Amino acid sequence: MTDDALTPDQIQQIRDRVAGLMPQVRADLEQLVRIPSVSASSFDQSQVARSAEAVADLLRREGLDVEIVVEGGRPAVIGHIDGPEGAPTVTLYAHHDVQPPGDETDWDSAPFEPEERGGRLYGRGAADDKAGVMAHVAALRAHSGNLPVGVTVFVEGEEEFGSASLPQILEKHGHRLSADAIVIADSGNWAIGEPALTTTLRGGVRAVVRVQTLDHSVHSGMYGGAAPDAVTALNRLLASLHDDDGSVAVKGLDEGTAADLDYDEARFREESGLLDGVDLIGTGSILTRLWNKPSITTIGMDVTSVDKASNTLAARAAAKVSMRLAPTQDPGAAFELLKQHLLDHAPWGAKVTVELEEHGSGFAADADGPIYDEARASFADAWGTAPVDMGVGGSIPFISDFVARFPDASIIVTGVEDPDTRAHGANESLHLGEFEKVCVAEAVFLARLGALRTAH
Ligand SMILES: [Zn+2]
Repeated sequence: MTDDALTPDQIQQIRDRVAGLMPQVRADLEQLVRIPSVSASSFDQSQVARSAEAVADLLRREGLDVEIVVEGGRPAVIGHIDGPEGAPTVTLYAHHDVQPPGDETDWDSAPFEPEERGGRLYGRGAADDKAGVMAHVAALRAHSGNLPVGVTVFVEGEEEFGSASLPQILEKHGHRLSADAIVIADSGNWAIGEPALTTTLRGGVRAVVRVQTLDHSVHSGMYGGAAPDAVTALNRLLASLHDDDGSVAVKGLDEGTAADLDYDEARFREESGLLDGVDLIGTGSILTRLWNKPSITTIGMDVTSVDKASNTLAARAAAKVSMRLAPTQDPGAAFELLKQHLLDHAPWGAKVTVELEEHGSGFAADADGPIYDEARASFADAWGTAPVDMGVGGSIPFISDFVARFPDASIIVTGVEDPDTRAHGANESLHLGEFEKVCVAEAVFLARLGALRTAH
């Protein structure tokens, strides 16, 4: 591809146009926030249908051909508008459903009644992810009548409820979502004034390990000291999963290194609530440990509870183990390594079985090439500073569905969140100044992408 770069004047025009559009974009965002589109089953699903309709309307007004699709789950919205002949294509993803509000008394203003305080707009979905929806709409409006690229908008309706029907939606409608670039606006930036592209996510494995040492439970006075109990054996087994410094002891797992961003131990201690005197575990920079290395946590155990305890050697015990995986790690291979480790470390010949409960792939963007270059340049145009590469220690499971379905697309994970957004929590909010920059970056990105032409 060749690049007919935009002039500084053209970029300034886009900034000015977006600035002029923001009052209406904000008003439309508030309308979306007023619809309590909670996708969890115990909530009124007619509200999710209403929000799908509202999103469809917004896209229709920008000239897109719009369809609401339902493939066994919540309604998703797909809209498309052609670009100039031969222009690149882009698919813009966001979701219109939201998390439940939780306990409303924890909110300082009603969750579905947007309210501005201190430059932030408060409300459930004000950031996650109705602002993502509106960033796409704002970018379309900035190029109204003169779109430089072909655009497909895909707004999911059940991201907060596990994206269960996404595979069917991709199966049936995926051909319409195929594009040169896919912008997934469901993450965030590193800090206020510091833009980021989310280039890695960790994957995960959950497994259940069961230990048996006796045919049946027996009296600890009569047999204790010679026969091992299953709870003690299980605990020794779980202890084998970490080295003395807390690093994961399972051999053969992938590891990477995070970008060198400013994140010190004091901040980590504050944000995680780690108690004074308790050590950090693992090695490498804190962000490397959180984003690019595996971690293992015991998240549940089946053992006799303290108040039901009696003088008994337990015959059986079980634990659920959660592993977070380096972004490049194959989760099936990681499970096999975990399983082999547990079988190899069975103490005292205890019978150990390991079952896979669930696994999901991480994401490591192929963050090079002309499309990524234009994305980085667009962020720099909007913020005046280049974006950093950020990781996320958790998973956004649907992203791996996109990677699998569209292996040739540049997948660019962006978003409106900042460290104070409190997505999913009480008092979720959107920083309005940063939101405008997100809209500018996306509008500039469409223009920059349009200026890329496939070389002949
Ligand atoms: Zn989200």
